[in-house]
Amino acid sequence: VGTIEYAVRADPGGKPVDVIDAPRRLWICVYSPDRENDREVVMNTALGLLAAVSDARSPRVRDRELTLWWGEIVDQGEQLRVIGFPQRLLYAVHKILVPLVEFDSRINFGDYEFADTGAMPLVGYDYGRIVAYGDPFAAPADIGGAQLRSAEMRAPSPIAVRRHPMPGLTTTFGPVYSLEGWSDARSSVLDAIYDLTAASSFASLRRMITTDLGITVTQRSGPEFALGRLTAGWLTEAADGDPGCTVGIELRRDMAPELRYVVLAHELAHFVLHFPLLLAAQLVEQASWEMPALENVWHAALAATLPTYEELERNADQLAVNLLIPPRYFPLRQVSAVHSVGGYGPPDPHHLVWHFLQGLFPNTAEQSYSWVNWDEHERRAAAQVAGQLDEDLGGQGLYDRMLGAGLANERGDTAGLQTAVGKAVAQIASSTFDAVTELGGLGPADQAQRAAALIRTSGASTAPHLPRDLSGLAASREILAPQRQADHPPKRLPLVPTRGGRRLIWRSPVREEPAADLATWQAREPERAIVLYREPPPLP
Ligand SMILES: [Zn+2]
Repeated sequence: VGTIEYAVRADPGGKPVDVIDAPRRLWICVYSPDRENDREVVMNTALGLLAAVSDARSPRVRDRELTLWWGEIVDQGEQLRVIGFPQRLLYAVHKILVPLVEFDSRINFGDYEFADTGAMPLVGYDYGRIVAYGDPFAAPADIGGAQLRSAEMRAPSPIAVRRHPMPGLTTTFGPVYSLEGWSDARSSVLDAIYDLTAASSFASLRRMITTDLGITVTQRSGPEFALGRLTAGWLTEAADGDPGCTVGIELRRDMAPELRYVVLAHELAHFVLHFPLLLAAQLVEQASWEMPALENVWHAALAATLPTYEELERNADQLAVNLLIPPRYFPLRQVSAVHSVGGYGPPDPHHLVWHFLQGLFPNTAEQSYSWVNWDEHERRAAAQVAGQLDEDLGGQGLYDRMLGAGLANERGDTAGLQTAVGKAVAQIASSTFDAVTELGGLGPADQAQRAAALIRTSGASTAPHLPRDLSGLAASREILAPQRQADHPPKRLPLVPTRGGRRLIWRSPVREEPAADLATWQAREPERAIVLYREPPPLP
């Protein structure tokens, strides 16, 4: 603490620059200035006292490093000054410095967060060597026997926001999720979120997601990759005998570490709220191999019933924000009513949302706010909160989106969206499962006819808007036309890339035949369209 690094670098005035580590806390004397040039007056007094330290008989007093600080602050319009001392000072040294503690009209003293004090290095003492810190543009000089130098402060490392471990779930779930298995897991996750007492950490949330939910969390890079996304594995049979799939969360690798927690919370929210869409999409993807007409029924169902991209995302954000601001704090107006900040009155509850979030984001995490910069703090909060009104999602960063979601929780108007989205998701899933059963019993010609009838009655009018991070709803694949044209929409043959020699060879998850190149597969089944899954989940 208070270590001074003597750099070889010079300031614009040609004086050496000392790099000084800012302490976390400082013991300060606050006074009201009675005269002009009071920094100079304090400095001269301090230099005289440090000379006395250097002249002390006892090496315990002499042999030390010491920085004294000075700053200007404004408290409710009043101009004040602070003189700062190291938190722990040998009594013999303290006794020498007493004239500084009793400076002018002292109005307060005590132990404060360094960031609250607005202090800068005033004078330094290093085993007898005395330094005065001054204007970096001033020419080299001696002041009262001390060398005039410049000080550069190294800020203390950001204060970590206190995180609590994510409470584990009472049972474990997955890894294969049917609708019913998901529904049980969802209740358990919602209970855990409800019990949160503080924001958790990325490691802790990831542990719950991987260990208790059996969802894999992987990191990936790539320029077009979103911050995160939810993925489905191949359809298989869940423990309850129903069709199900595994779930994965992919996170962008090059994100700021603080954001990983927020993005993971958002993707978990998509799982909790929208998994039936993911499962239905995977079911359609695979069932379309044998009944290609199903795909159009699915698109019609999405176009008719799927909430907008914006609604799905806001819905996920409004759940995710509870992992940042625990639900027990809402509504924050109750917290606000019992909370008063240094003579400024109760804070605006909307600004409290901002306060909760700012420490969890990298751009704002290093800023520690307190009574000194409270005005500035409230100005920023007010501006950002006001900026959320009527802002569309496309123009918002992650922080703004979470702020918007927190404000919606504060207003208590998230239930409408929650109900509407929940209903739509359930309806799309059940109509899709029904369509699969119904078309599955028909021959190709009847399938096409029945599918057309289902589309007519769906009331679809517009194209669906899928959230980018529900990528399972739009599988990344390429369809090649069959070699021999059939009457009806052709059945499909799925292929996934597999290792083998220099040429790209393919394996089919639904065929016994060994892996082969594309031409060989096309020759084997000329009447089928070929679906190439270039980035498939691992085969079951
Ligand atoms: Zn999303």
